[in-house]
Amino acid sequence: MSYGPPDLARQGTLFVVAAPSGAGKSTLVNALLEREPAISLSISHTTRPPRPGELYGRHYYFTERAEFEREIAEGIFLEHAEVHGNLYGTSRDRVDALLEQGRDVLLEIDWQGAAQIRKSKPDCVSVFILPPSRAELERRLRGRGSDAPEVIERRLANSRGEIAHAHEFDYIIVNDRFEDALDELQAIVRAVRLRGAPQCRRHEALIAELLA
Ligand code: GDP
Ligand code: ADP
Ligand code: 5GP
Repeated sequence: MSYGPPDLARQGTLFVVAAPSGAGKSTLVNALLEREPAISLSISHTTRPPRPGELYGRHYYFTERAEFEREIAEGIFLEHAEVHGNLYGTSRDRVDALLEQGRDVLLEIDWQGAAQIRKSKPDCVSVFILPPSRAELERRLRGRGSDAPEVIERRLANSRGEIAHAHEFDYIIVNDRFEDALDELQAIVRAVRLRGAPQCRRHEALIAELLA
């Protein structure tokens, strides 16, 4: 993971990205992080078994259900939810430490987790990714080739429940042409960084000089 220079003058921004499974969320987020390496991706904990090629600590912290439930009871999660029959959660410590250092953090989570984050971190910026059509969502889920047929069916069935919450998000992107969707996601990050309050803090000396 790359880190940009810390900006101690402010708290970082917490970005929350959600989508129905197969919409292209992880592919978009990974491409965004190549363009914006100062954003730190939060690695979630999950009880889902690893897909071929997925690594512990890189894609997820893969955890047994009993241990996950113990961790919920200990209160280590900023948010957690059951999605497609598995538990997923974001641990609090690293996210809070990064935000306090002024770094931007991105969570790839489901709508239930996003709703919890909006309550505990009302300054978060949330983005929902839509596929261009139901047929294309199905094509991408099957084409990814990472899930068993019954898992794909379950994810397709659950997609309506996820999409029904799209209107709760600050921004919505339709991931039709990948490069366009990526440009739009980057535009959101850039616009947030240009907001007045943090820009005033960043350019305090400039504004003082211009006012003198
Ligand atoms: P994907 O659909 O290919 O991203 O499949 P995953 O198995 O990686 O993720 C399944 C679902 O769990 C998605 O809706 C994710 O957004 C959600 N998810 C992943 N990590 C977290 C997390 O830390 N918290 C919550 N609440 N949801 C998560
Ligand atoms: P998610 O994380 O939302 O479940 P993925 O990022 O794994 O989705 O993407 C699902 C599949 O769709 C992957 O095989 C990915 O390469 C493909 N994909 C993503 N975006 C596009 C796009 N704009 N056009 C065509 N295929 C895409
Ligand atoms: P997958 O199993 O395909 O990696 O992820 C399935 C879903 O779980 C995705 O929609 C993903 O966003 C969600 N998910 C992944 N990590 C978390 C998490 O930490 N918290 C929540 N709430 N959802 C997550």
